Amino acid sequence: MKKKFKLYILLLLLIAFTLTGCEKKEELVTESAYMLGTHIEISIWTDNVVNGKASIQKSFKRIEEIEKRMSVNIKESDISLLNKSAGKNSVKVNPDTAHVLNKAIKYARISEGAFDPTVGKLVKLWGIGTEEQKIPDSMEIQNALKYVDYKMLKPTAENEFILDMKGMQVDLGGIAKGYAGDEVYSILKDSGIKRAIINLGGNVLTLGKKADGSEWRVGIQNPLKPTGTHMGIVQVSDKSVVTSGNYERYFISDGRKYHHIFDTKTGYPVDNGIISTTIIAKGSIDADALSTAVFVKGTNDGLKLIESLDNVECIIITDDYKIYLSSGMEGKLTIVDNQFKLAD
Ligand code: ADP
Ligand code: MG
Repeated sequence: MKKKFKLYILLLLLIAFTLTGCEKKEELVTESAYMLGTHIEISIWTDNVVNGKASIQKSFKRIEEIEKRMSVNIKESDISLLNKSAGKNSVKVNPDTAHVLNKAIKYARISEGAFDPTVGKLVKLWGIGTEEQKIPDSMEIQNALKYVDYKMLKPTAENEFILDMKGMQVDLGGIAKGYAGDEVYSILKDSGIKRAIINLGGNVLTLGKKADGSEWRVGIQNPLKPTGTHMGIVQVSDKSVVTSGNYERYFISDGRKYHHIFDTKTGYPVDNGIISTTIIAKGSIDADALSTAVFVKGTNDGLKLIESLDNVECIIITDDYKIYLSSGMEGKLTIVDNQFKLAD
């Protein structure tokens, strides 16, 4: 009887061993790069490290390609050519660029110009984050505002656009990272990756679920603390979480903060009490444009905009430590810094 029992245990152990032996172990592979003016980190969990690393490299190549087409800092980019041709002729762009321009026009329309891809003249004038950053005089600001109007950015044919007035400048800084994120997500998914976290300087995308089947926990940056300190956590899978904050790029003069998100009505950095907006949506391109749009629109109008859209949620944080949530977010944000309180 005793011997039989021992044999039974042995058999069980043997089965357990062969089972775990068959199941390949998943490894975490993380690689980072500096592109699109920001720190990019891709983490994947894979049982095929060689294939996984190749798909990360493919992703970096793709981001580089997108940057080459859409950056205003690259002379031969589609956007630089479009800007150079402003007031003269239309420009044929790569389908990538056309897709982002069309999305940008869409979000400019639905946000009534709060998000405006023709904000380039203002971005250049203020130069926030560059060596030339300064507070322009009000005449210069009034002048720059004449060149900010998405209605004067028009498609003329397939993949072809024109800027109606000489001097106008498109700047896709508020949306291109989102597009790049979506493209990386597709590349990883198509190469068979089941789990991944993609982070493009605060634009986070989650692919699949954690190995134990639970959702990812994405930290929301604490707008008042160093990068990596969270004020709250949301649980998501196959969603993008994008934050725009006044802490990303700014300078301080006479105790005032001048940051990189512009109020397209005043020409000054947004000054409405919001210090960060987070959008949770399927598409990172949509979340990116909307995070900027809500930031500019302000708490009330921003929330209204989000409520009018399906499958899009938002978290707004204001300088009085209040948190405003869209209706679909209620009960879904775990606050980890009690300095911040839900607004009633
Ligand atoms: P981040 O780049 O920090 O992730 P955003 O997505 O909000 O933040 O993008 C900010 C960038 O968008 C600015 O650097 C500028 O290039 C551009 N931008 C600034 N104001 C606006 C605006 N009102 N509409 C569209 N784009 C804007
Ligand atoms: Mg944005």
